[in-house]
Amino acid sequence: MMNHGHPKGIYLLFATEMWERFSYYGMRALFMLYMVQALRFNKELASEIYGNYTGLVYLTPLLGGYIADRYWGNCRSITVGALVMAAGQFLLFLSACWYYDTSWAKGLMLAGLGLLIAGNGFFKPNISTLVGRLYTDTDPRKDAAYTLFYMGVNVGSILAPLVCGALGNTGRPEDFKWGFLAACIGMLAGTLIFKGFGSRCLRDPSGRPLGGPPHYRESVRRHQIPSARQVVRSCRLAAGIAALTLLFAYGWDGSGWAEADWTGSLIGATALVMPLGIIADRSLTRMERRRIGIIYVIAFFVIFFWAAYEQAGASLTFFADEQTDRRIGGWEMPAAYFQSFNPLMVIVLAPLFAALWPWLHRRGWEPGPVHKQAIGLLLLALGYLFIAFGVRDVEPGVKVSIGWLAGLYLIHTMGELCLAPIGLSLVYKLSPVRFSSLLMGVWYLSTSAAAKLAGGLSGLYPEGGVAKSFLGWPVQTLADFFLVFVGMSGVSALVLYALAGRLQKMMQEEG
Ligand code: GLN
Repeated sequence: MMNHGHPKGIYLLFATEMWERFSYYGMRALFMLYMVQALRFNKELASEIYGNYTGLVYLTPLLGGYIADRYWGNCRSITVGALVMAAGQFLLFLSACWYYDTSWAKGLMLAGLGLLIAGNGFFKPNISTLVGRLYTDTDPRKDAAYTLFYMGVNVGSILAPLVCGALGNTGRPEDFKWGFLAACIGMLAGTLIFKGFGSRCLRDPSGRPLGGPPHYRESVRRHQIPSARQVVRSCRLAAGIAALTLLFAYGWDGSGWAEADWTGSLIGATALVMPLGIIADRSLTRMERRRIGIIYVIAFFVIFFWAAYEQAGASLTFFADEQTDRRIGGWEMPAAYFQSFNPLMVIVLAPLFAALWPWLHRRGWEPGPVHKQAIGLLLLALGYLFIAFGVRDVEPGVKVSIGWLAGLYLIHTMGELCLAPIGLSLVYKLSPVRFSSLLMGVWYLSTSAAAKLAGGLSGLYPEGGVAKSFLGWPVQTLADFFLVFVGMSGVSALVLYALAGRLQKMMQEEG
């Protein structure tokens, strides 16, 4: 059995992450609707705010990881992050209490979003790192542990729209507040569980308490790097990010400041400057630097996974709504229910995958960790190929069987289980301890970049016969649209597969 003999701490982290994701996805399920139906924002403004939120929420883990590795340690960062997010959800609740006074409601909403973005930065990389810390470096159960943790993510994701949606999305704008309040209570429940059981359950394999203050300062002392130099380096990095953001914002599409995409520019600038800044750290040995380089290569390819996968919330939902025959017997399934397919499938398939790897391992057939990332990308391409086949001659407005979308989600979920939990485990294993939360932040930076890319790609969705194109490829029909993702993830999968053997060899080399 997958959970046989796992340390107690993994169940604590499962429960904490489950409540946090309940809060995160519960708010996400309501947020667009709240802006459009209660605050009366137009769809364009609401989509812009939504896109910026989902991009920024995965950018701050870099900052939260940095502070945890240098000053606070994992436990304190998780508690602070959880409380800040609970406060953010509470501000959204207050905003929805006064939804009829748009300027108040908008101010409270933006303040709430700011707290959610900041809080997630402290929470997400640190809880992800703690999972790995429960095991010794060579413990083969680590991939299974991350898979179990990933199940917690998805139990939360599946409950969230059901509970927060039922309470908040009733068709009456005055009810949104109850959905946000439920998200706030979920976050507090996670915090209480973590604080209540943390000191008892979070132990390293030799029984010492985990998640305390970091090792970085000690290592800086050992490598005799004066702290003044550290401060100067941090300022240089911040200045580099600011300068590049300004440059991108001005020159992005030649349209100047007025049209600037500030969030996209900030994410792009950070994605270029931070990885360089980290790898240039003077305290790193050659081997550590090489391993961090491997994390970067994989994180780059993973951007294309999440950008294609995240179409679930955008173009694939239009497809479910407009082009999928959702009748089952006499009942028509709401398009929004498709959002639950993926988390449900993760929960069902995760134990199978966690058992599959050791089974393959015993026979000497288990793919290496980078091969698994490439297989994840390949399955994503196959999912899109499957649906492109389903819609090959379909005219706009004609509906296809539910089986095509269900099949796509099944194939994508299998890909996700090869890539996401194994990726977390791999990042943990490759990171020097004193940088592990910061590098988790780099891993989540790919999700942040992917959120921006996903928004752009979703705009290629064919509508009204308007001709669009992607890198010279004409996108006119639905099949063309899906083939863009086949191409993107297929090429990334093949290139990563070709590099995998070499990367895995480099991981094992010493010195
Ligand atoms: N479903 C995952 C989560 O919410 C996705 C994480 C990611 O890296 N995109 O944690």
